[in-house]
Amino acid sequence: MSFNKRKRIIVIGFDGASWDFLDPWIAEGSLPTFRYLIQNGVKGCLESTIPPVTFPAWRCYSSGKNPGKLGVYGFTKFYPNALRVRVCNSTYFKSRDVWDYLGRAGLKVAIIDMPGTYPPKKVNGIMVSETPFPTNDYVYPTEFRKTLKKINYKDFYEFEQLFLIAKRGKILKDILEVIKSRFRLLNVLLEDSSYSFIHLTIFPTDAIAHYLWNSEESLEIWKVIDMELKSIIQKINISNKKAKNYLFIISDHGMRLYKETFYLNTWLWKKGYLVLKKRKTFKLICNHLFKMIVINILKAFPHLSPYLKKILANSNILRTIGSLIFSPIEVISQNIDKRSKAIATSGGIYIINEKDKNLRKKLAIEIAEKLRHFKGRYGKVMRCVYLKEDIYKGPYLNEAPDVVYVASNEYDIKYSLSFKIFGGKHRWIATHKPEGIFIAYGYNIKKGVILSPKIKIYDIAPTILHIFGVPIPKDMDGRVLKEIIEEKSDIFKRKKS
Ligand SMILES: [Zn+2]
Repeated sequence: MSFNKRKRIIVIGFDGASWDFLDPWIAEGSLPTFRYLIQNGVKGCLESTIPPVTFPAWRCYSSGKNPGKLGVYGFTKFYPNALRVRVCNSTYFKSRDVWDYLGRAGLKVAIIDMPGTYPPKKVNGIMVSETPFPTNDYVYPTEFRKTLKKINYKDFYEFEQLFLIAKRGKILKDILEVIKSRFRLLNVLLEDSSYSFIHLTIFPTDAIAHYLWNSEESLEIWKVIDMELKSIIQKINISNKKAKNYLFIISDHGMRLYKETFYLNTWLWKKGYLVLKKRKTFKLICNHLFKMIVINILKAFPHLSPYLKKILANSNILRTIGSLIFSPIEVISQNIDKRSKAIATSGGIYIINEKDKNLRKKLAIEIAEKLRHFKGRYGKVMRCVYLKEDIYKGPYLNEAPDVVYVASNEYDIKYSLSFKIFGGKHRWIATHKPEGIFIAYGYNIKKGVILSPKIKIYDIAPTILHIFGVPIPKDMDGRVLKEIIEEKSDIFKRKKS
């Protein structure tokens, strides 16, 4: 009988994917598989975490929990007492994930290339983690590396560096190779009916959106993705005879254009909340200017000879610039004066050098209020500003930045120190926004439905557990997305486990 059929859930995540550029392409018929999925499934807008950043967003999806229960609020973790910054990895996330619960229920799982999973953890199946640097220990179990080798899995690529120094043609070729190798692995796993849950993240789509937005080159890549999805769906439709297949397509956050850069630490500095050691301010600003000059030269002269680019890539100059691009907070925090009251990091603003809890809160309220009303030439700089306790809850709330925000549509926020609070566009064309993509397709999933209220990134994990009939832990923040399920089906009628 049909309800005794096996179930399989496939989640494909496109980092930074946004309806802003996908919708027009779907409408003009350039992405026929996306159109098919929307016509035969449910489309929605998936709201990310605040702030909408890759770390912790992916792990918020997989845990079904807000960052206050994970202890991660950005790519880096800031320790306000020591004024130290550490780059986060999978061990910083203090929660179980949906695949742990599925594994415990005896279901076999596969997790591929999801940011925030390196170093890989033991799972009931395989985990091929996303690596921030070239390494061999990114696979659990180690033997699975043989399979990866066989299918020529491309494990590591530095996309950011690539966009700055490589030729466009080479970038696209390399990115396509990475994407195709991810789908090759997904196809191999789909052939093996023992996997009940497969998650795949396509990470390069984030860099593509940042640097190429909706250009022809970007569309070329998405057309290849659309073709790959077509063959996945064919496989799913065939195997539906044996199993109930569910496909979710999601993104960790959306993407949008912006007009100006808002230098938040410069704002804190000019408002007197951030004080730098004497003589260090000039040095820090020079570092920032030097970085901007080199980036602009590289942007302005795309035909700069490959030879020169090679020299730059191998020189200390570029490596220094690289370190400044990725860790301005580290540089600033090392040059901070004791009188400083606040510093902004990629997760939000931390109140520092203030031991009294009430005074700390008072300062946070004061800064939040000023930031909320601060305007640039395009109007309010922030779309919303919160105190940490307004949006996070959980055992790691005390580690959260005191003030958290989302920039308004005209601005992107950067953290290096500049002479001016505002600047033109930096190296990206587009930046993150909370509204990501969501598609559900498959057995007992409604057809041709467009969800109007936003759904949350925390809702996916409990929905997956509900479909499998695995109990949903009480501390998950999300809810089961019953509105995507056909009302006549057993999974709709079934009470929450
Ligand atoms: Zn992302």
